[in-house]
Amino acid sequence: MNDLKKLIREVPDFPKPGILFYDITTLLKDPVGLHRAVDSLANHYVGRAVDRVVGIEARGFIFAPMVAYRLNSGFVPVRKPKKLPYECARVTYQLEYGQDSLEVHRDAISKGQDVLIIDDVLATGGTAAAVAQLVESLGGRVAGLGFLIELEFLKGREKLSRYELHSVLKY
Ligand code: AMP
Repeated sequence: MNDLKKLIREVPDFPKPGILFYDITTLLKDPVGLHRAVDSLANHYVGRAVDRVVGIEARGFIFAPMVAYRLNSGFVPVRKPKKLPYECARVTYQLEYGQDSLEVHRDAISKGQDVLIIDDVLATGGTAAAVAQLVESLGGRVAGLGFLIELEFLKGREKLSRYELHSVLKY
């Protein structure tokens, strides 16, 4: 997996001083890298029940549909407020400074469905925890949380300990 790490560009001080940003665009443009990244993310779930794959705006939208395609499942976007046109469920969660919200269409997930949540990076885990709560508010069962990159030093995994969690690359 470490050769996949070589395809991820590390940009210091983006979007603000002190943050080391993991830029996946350099991996996405590499045909072999893209293939390996998506396979490593998706193959973990082959043979398990997954009715819906949820992608978190924005970079979760890149990987979740490819994972859904691989698993013969459906894709559901979780979006920033006021982007989705139909009836939505909303979750509001705390950020370091202030708060943020995410929405999903109420009819995108039904009671009892097995839902896999996908994003590019697991940092503090706040976003993924909020999306898991959103899925459960609609009666969905969180079948797993999958990330291409896990920033282990931020201990997001601890916040998400009640869920099955898979990450491809650990930093
Ligand atoms: P968190 O809620 O702290 O786990 O943050 C997760 C969200 O922020 C994900 O959607 C990531 O895409 C993004 N993110 C957080 N930290 C980074 C980072 N160092 N590099 C790239 N994306 C990040």
